[in-house]
Amino acid sequence: NENNVEQLAWLKMDNLIPAIIQHHKTGAVLMQGYMSQEALYATLTSGNATFFSRSKQALWVKGETSGNYLKVKQILTDCDKDSLLLSCEPIGPSCHLGTESCFPEQQLTTQNFLSQLEQVIATRQQNAPDNSYTAQLFAKGTTKIAQKVGEEGVEVALAAVAETKQDLLGECADLFYHTLVLLRDKNIELSEVMDVLQKRHNK
Ligand code: AMP
Ligand code: ZN
Ligand code: ZN
Ligand code: ZN
Repeated sequence: NENNVEQLAWLKMDNLIPAIIQHHKTGAVLMQGYMSQEALYATLTSGNATFFSRSKQALWVKGETSGNYLKVKQILTDCDKDSLLLSCEPIGPSCHLGTESCFPEQQLTTQNFLSQLEQVIATRQQNAPDNSYTAQLFAKGTTKIAQKVGEEGVEVALAAVAETKQDLLGECADLFYHTLVLLRDKNIELSEVMDVLQKRHNK
């Protein structure tokens, strides 16, 4: 919080501290910038990630011209307080080249790909191309989607006992996908399901 700002190791590197921006849901690294004390205070008070631009030698609110702001959800410092990790919700692509991340090649862990798929599914519910299977599912409604989940569950079970590993992989993928569509349809976030799993695990 704001009281901790002065405790950071500002003198190590010319009063600047590197800030790594991470997607709050997928964990993807989106970009990296430097923060001055002023930039960090501005970040804390506005809720939008604000950096010190070394090329312009001025405060820079990420998104100020593009509209692609970074809404800050959490700020962590590392062990020796010379680095910041910001968990953010990006409003649009974070890289000025138009990609979601400045590190577009990075591989999300398999777990986090589910979050990415969850987001794609959510956008299909808003405005989708005509040929979108996901949009067609949403149009058919909850009962039809729930039925698909039931079918895919049965197909997983059948594949496990009577089909090849490739078949089982495909059916599991179908089940995960349709379950994500059903959760979206029911206005439930994947993170809520993960919370339930995590609470059980902590017992
Ligand atoms: P924006 O902050 O998105 O409005 O972009 C304004 C300017 O900031 C761009 O024209 C770039 O010069 C710079 N910029 C934006 N995003 C990045 C980034 N992820 N890394 C480095 N520079 C950036
Ligand atoms: Zn460190
Ligand atoms: Zn970039
Ligand atoms: Zn299937």
